[in-house]
Amino acid sequence: MSPEKLFADLLGLGLNWRVAECVFHKDASRVELHIEHTDEVWKLERCPRCGGLPQGYDRTEALRWRHLNVMQHRCEIVCRLPRGRCKGCGHTWRVRPPWEGKAGGFSKEFEAFALVLMREMPMAKVSEALGETDTRLWRLLHTHVDSAYAEADFSQVCCVGVDEMAVRKGHHYISVFADLVRSRVLFAAEDRDAGVWPQFLEALEAHNGHRHALTQVSQDLSPAYLKGVREHCRNAEVIHDKYHVFANVTPATEKVRRREQRERPELKESRWLFRKNPENLSEEQQAELAVLTQTNLATVKAYQMRLAFQDAYRLESVSAAKRRLRAWCRWVRLGERKFGAVLGEMVKFAESVEKHLAGILAHWKHRITNAFMEGLNSVFSAVKRRSRGFRSFVYLRTMLYFVAGKLRLPAL
Ligand SMILES: [Zn+2]
Repeated sequence: MSPEKLFADLLGLGLNWRVAECVFHKDASRVELHIEHTDEVWKLERCPRCGGLPQGYDRTEALRWRHLNVMQHRCEIVCRLPRGRCKGCGHTWRVRPPWEGKAGGFSKEFEAFALVLMREMPMAKVSEALGETDTRLWRLLHTHVDSAYAEADFSQVCCVGVDEMAVRKGHHYISVFADLVRSRVLFAAEDRDAGVWPQFLEALEAHNGHRHALTQVSQDLSPAYLKGVREHCRNAEVIHDKYHVFANVTPATEKVRRREQRERPELKESRWLFRKNPENLSEEQQAELAVLTQTNLATVKAYQMRLAFQDAYRLESVSAAKRRLRAWCRWVRLGERKFGAVLGEMVKFAESVEKHLAGILAHWKHRITNAFMEGLNSVFSAVKRRSRGFRSFVYLRTMLYFVAGKLRLPAL
């Protein structure tokens, strides 16, 4: 068997195409497969405009597609593609060869392989492994993600979680919307204000979803997101998930400690003591904590308040939780009478609990585990690492959809 025939078989070219020549450029470590079309190609080709019969018109310049390596050598398909002309309407077009991928300049198999690598490693590493520039690889990824995202179906979406993610520490946030039933990212928008809701709903409805099909929305206590839900989704019940509520009580405790340490320098070293839960402390730390709890410190009180608050989440029924949380808020106010302004942050948190009580209690009603939203933070960190060097929003969004959107992408 000639090498040309062998490669034609390996590529599965069929009758429409043939390998005219294969060349090995030893110095460049590159194999080139020069492919030509046969007359058979016109048998199935039809005019894309009117469906009419074509005749051969001319050929393009020599085009190149990167294909999977042959042994350890870079392999490229080279072909002057035939252009057809419609016998009916005179329209001319380029015949699409069977090996051509979506992104231009790559074969289908190469694109699928590159996507597999991109799932596993940062873009810079993929670029190194494949010997392709990251500009070309990003174009490949954008093309596939955009096309798969356009096909994504959101018609069954009813429980949505929304959360902000920091692109860089303390700066620049994006909002991520997720389908909590199918555990996938649906949409990401720049910013974290109420304006992201209409953007999300537009995307939802462009993918066959409906705003009034949303029955539960899980989110933090931020007024911006709340405003978005209230204004646009009349059937959605807001759930302030446990993860976000806890994320507010811990900083409140810490702020009390920081305030009190101005007067009580012995608190300076205790930061980590009060941040952790008692079961996570070392023996030494537990002993330290035991000494501190004997003292009359607002920080200790705030710490006990935090533990009691978390404890309420062990309760089974919504009515018991409601009683407990209300009693807890009263207890904080009593504490304020005794300790004064130093407990201010805790009081603020209690006020926020009272204000958002319905949404907080919805946790007991629906038991939507927010594991997906919580896990999303680590997914997002990975996404940031993988797209290092390309911090524009579009790159991050593409990588986020790629990693967590459960899109239908080509696989090897
Ligand atoms: Zn035509």
